[in-house]
Amino acid sequence: MSVQHAPNVEMHTSTCVDRVEIDQDGVRVTDTQGRCFEGSALIGADGVRSVVRNTLVGDTHRVSGHVVYRAVVPREDMPEDLRWNAAAIWVGPNCHLVHYPLRGGEQYNLVVTFHSREKEEWGVREGSAEEVNSYFTDICERPRRLLSKPTSWKRWATADRDPVERWGRGRATLLGDAAHPMLQYLAQGACMALEDAVTLREAIRAQHGSGDFAAAFRLFEEKRVVRTARVVLSAREMGRIYHAKGIERQVRNSLWQGRSPERFYDAMEWLYGWTVAHCLD
Ligand SMILES: Cc1cc2nc3c(=O)[nH]c(=O)nc-3n(C[C@H](O)[C@H](O)[C@H](O)COP(=O)(O)OP(=O)(O)OC[C@H]3O[C@@H](n4cnc5c(N)ncnc54)[C@H](O)[C@@H]3O)c2cc1C
Repeated sequence: MSVQHAPNVEMHTSTCVDRVEIDQDGVRVTDTQGRCFEGSALIGADGVRSVVRNTLVGDTHRVSGHVVYRAVVPREDMPEDLRWNAAAIWVGPNCHLVHYPLRGGEQYNLVVTFHSREKEEWGVREGSAEEVNSYFTDICERPRRLLSKPTSWKRWATADRDPVERWGRGRATLLGDAAHPMLQYLAQGACMALEDAVTLREAIRAQHGSGDFAAAFRLFEEKRVVRTARVVLSAREMGRIYHAKGIERQVRNSLWQGRSPERFYDAMEWLYGWTVAHCLD
């Protein structure tokens, strides 16, 4: 059942949380219109610039200066020699391009990343073909042809945060990007948010209906903090490897040259081998 239709869920949209108070018996949230909401517990899932995190942790996000452009290209516009039924990546100094089929090959997702020359602020807006092209003048012709295909682009200036050892206190915790915003290099932000949600459910279940949210939240954090911190740090490192230049580029190439797909898969087992059955182990 969706949240909208659940009888015991009250949804408030167009609401911007401004202030959070947590005490022994409950939590209170105040929005920018001055409305107050009281409850037994608080799960802050308010994204990269989380207001709840400001209260619970008090750190700031770290703008990476890396910009992502994304577009969808219809199959007929995709160069025939690149209509691969696979995720493909082209890497270069300070940049990379990814493409893969969507909807059974009717469309292709095109995602490109570069290190911006500008001072960036975290956020998303419409992109411009001129800007994206200006960062790829020196790459080889085959992937560069792709850049002329989209009719519109979306542009994200990305950010993450340094991992922390604790996300919450008392009857409050964080989930998803609020807890562990990460760069997109491992494509794991939403995946980790889903793992969080499942683990949180299991941690609450483990309290056998006692209503001890503080205990459930500490158990949830204990099981999630290290794993998600590993993903945050690995995503940064993956960006560095993709965008390597000079001697780092040569080291990357020598590390990966001749490596079998099986060895690549084995190296990712820690990431993709997660199951709910072991989430509280
Ligand atoms: C370019 C790019 C590519 C990505 N690719 C992938 C991928 O391939 N795979 C993957 O798994 N992940 C990917 N991600 C990451 C993924 O999008 C995020 O990790 C995911 O959306 C996080 O979900 P969330 O619910 O925690 O936060 P969000 O999706 O950011 O949702 C937070 C919500 O909180 C609301 N909110 C914010 N502040 C307040 C406030 N003060 N009061 C009330 N509401 C508030 C926002 O409006 C929003 O609705 C990508 C991200 C980017 C930028």
